[in-house]
Amino acid sequence: MSRIFYALALIWALTGAAVAQDFSALARALPEQSRIVDEGNTGVRLDLGLSQGVPYRVFTLRDPYRIVLDFQEVDWSGLNREAFLRTSRISSIQYGAYVPGWSRLVLELGAPLAVETVDLRVDETTGAAHLSLHLKGTDFDSFAASAGAPRQPGWDLPEPAVIPALPQRDGTRALRVMLDPGHGGIDPGAEVADTNEKTLMLTFSRELREALLRTGGFEVVMTRVDDQFVSLERRIALAHRAGADVFISLHADSLSEGLAHGAVVYTLSEEASDIASRKLAERHDRSDLIAGVDLSGSDDQVADVLLDLARQETKPRSTALAQSLVDGMAQQGGPMNRRPLRSASFSVLKAADIPSVLVELGFLSSPRDLKNISDPGWRASMAHGLVLGLENWRQDDLVKRSLVGQ
Ligand SMILES: [Zn+2]
Repeated sequence: MSRIFYALALIWALTGAAVAQDFSALARALPEQSRIVDEGNTGVRLDLGLSQGVPYRVFTLRDPYRIVLDFQEVDWSGLNREAFLRTSRISSIQYGAYVPGWSRLVLELGAPLAVETVDLRVDETTGAAHLSLHLKGTDFDSFAASAGAPRQPGWDLPEPAVIPALPQRDGTRALRVMLDPGHGGIDPGAEVADTNEKTLMLTFSRELREALLRTGGFEVVMTRVDDQFVSLERRIALAHRAGADVFISLHADSLSEGLAHGAVVYTLSEEASDIASRKLAERHDRSDLIAGVDLSGSDDQVADVLLDLARQETKPRSTALAQSLVDGMAQQGGPMNRRPLRSASFSVLKAADIPSVLVELGFLSSPRDLKNISDPGWRASMAHGLVLGLENWRQDDLVKRSLVGQ
């Protein structure tokens, strides 16, 4: 980040004095030249047209993940929010006057993104300026390490206030959902013909994120936003660090044993509810061994006792969540497995204090399920079912928790 700030200091030196002395020289945002677009795997690109160059700075904030741009000073009134924001990788944008003389643009992120490049060019003839900001997917650690408002001489701004989570219709805060697209990187998960589980689940997770964000009642974080290997332990750690309220791991495995077709929602259990569930759990944990991460024995005994206590509180909430998701998907027509609620010892569900479930959307080993999961229309209805399930669970959980005084 520091290189960027040197660049900013330079911009300040070039334009700051003139702007500071002349308030009529306020820059206007130019809507035709302003857009935030998805660049696929390469990231997100923000273009902002300005009627003139102004000093600016960019930095990141966490909890929730945000990219903040401060300007001196921009009139945003020409911008149309819908036309400006054209990617779902940014959950929402806010812009406006921040404190007198300063304007702020805040991008709320569904997952950590890092500033790759930022550049403001001023056209020598017209004086108009163009800001290009390129954001690239990153992991939580790198994001957290560079997050925070910089202290810079000449930027006499108050500490940036944390923007509170958007209040909901019922006055409660948004539920923060950690979506965990199964597998990734060297671990493809189930593979059938020309497709595989890791790719399908990343696609579905993005669609589900979009459906959740559209309701306005959820914040969404993801354990991975691209084809990257993430260890099971790390997926849980990411959920904790993001302050997730629920954790949903998304899968579509392949199983030859038993009647493996239709959606199933799993909760954690030491004893798998059947042999097929046990084999599935073993197979998932094996992927971590492939990548050199061994979860077994990672807790010491004292920690185990404490974690077990926390799990006892979380367990009924996880079970209720699983049931609610099953109901939501069933309402959409499924198809559901004949026993849609099961338990197994999936390591990825071992967060002691976050209700966690693993959804097998279907099984790629079943031709019918494969056809469904490859169909965007079917996926949309299942995403809708999961949204319904989450909404219902959230209501019930609030009531139950208020009854036990938590
Ligand atoms: Zn899987």
